Amino acid sequence: MPRRPTIARSLAALERTTARLRWESGRIVLVPTMGALHAGHLDLVRLARMKARRVVVSIFVNPTQFAPHEDLASYPRTFEADLAALAALKVDLVWAPTDDIMYPPGFATRVAPEGPATVGLEDKFRPQHFGGVATVVAKLFAQVRPHLAVFGEKDYQQLKVVTRMAADLDLGVTVIGMPTVREPDGLALSSRNVYLSPQERARAPSLYRVLKDCAARIAAGQPIAATAADGAAELERIGFAVDYLAVRHAETLQPIASVADGPIRLLVAARLGQTRLIDNIGM
Ligand code: AMP
Repeated sequence: MPRRPTIARSLAALERTTARLRWESGRIVLVPTMGALHAGHLDLVRLARMKARRVVVSIFVNPTQFAPHEDLASYPRTFEADLAALAALKVDLVWAPTDDIMYPPGFATRVAPEGPATVGLEDKFRPQHFGGVATVVAKLFAQVRPHLAVFGEKDYQQLKVVTRMAADLDLGVTVIGMPTVREPDGLALSSRNVYLSPQERARAPSLYRVLKDCAARIAAGQPIAATAADGAAELERIGFAVDYLAVRHAETLQPIASVADGPIRLLVAARLGQTRLIDNIGM
């Protein structure tokens, strides 16, 4: 059986182990997660392994990025299975803090991201979300002090927000993005896919298919706004409640009027029953 990673559950233990890892290899790469690991997370870890000799994975379901009505209480937690998967990939350290360690009594500071965090996509539907994400990621970077951190393109707006934040605050961390890992039928892997009923699961791949259809139509010269509206209408017909289907500049995430203003990213968020799914593709 592969050796289990060291598990740090206190800041003192984290400091001890990261000091050793830094001394052994010079470079540390961090993969932040909320656990309930799937093959997409594990590909992030594989990419991390290729980038540095020492890999730290954090597992923390961050309460401050969930709104009160969201799924914090029911978010899947599979710590033992996560550890076994990370052991198989020879992860050196798992940082698994408690809520109290991350947010001790009296905690009163919040990172307030702008730019890609305020473009009317996820931020419009989850107003507190990126403040929570930026704050917890800034803390993880300060605690682990990695040279590199790997994030998934699955959460594309988050990737842009975190990249901007690390640069703006001089955190000394380079953020790398990793392409989205999908099921054979195209559905992006997500810890939340376990919420889908069999009927919803059967419909869910349409999200990716419609994104691809929209990209093909735009590449063929169809007007951007009408194509996005048609895509959203098709998803509604299939049974999704669409929050947005947007065509944006791939770096700034600002709206664009023509292909010439690209590179382009298509982003979608839609609900199937109680489950909210997001996806995106480049073109
Ligand atoms: P989460 O645990 O959902 O917060 O995700 C932790 C990291 O894994 C984030 O950087 C996500 O973007 C990334 N991730 C989640 N799902 C996927 C996927 N299907 N493919 C690639 N990366 C992913």
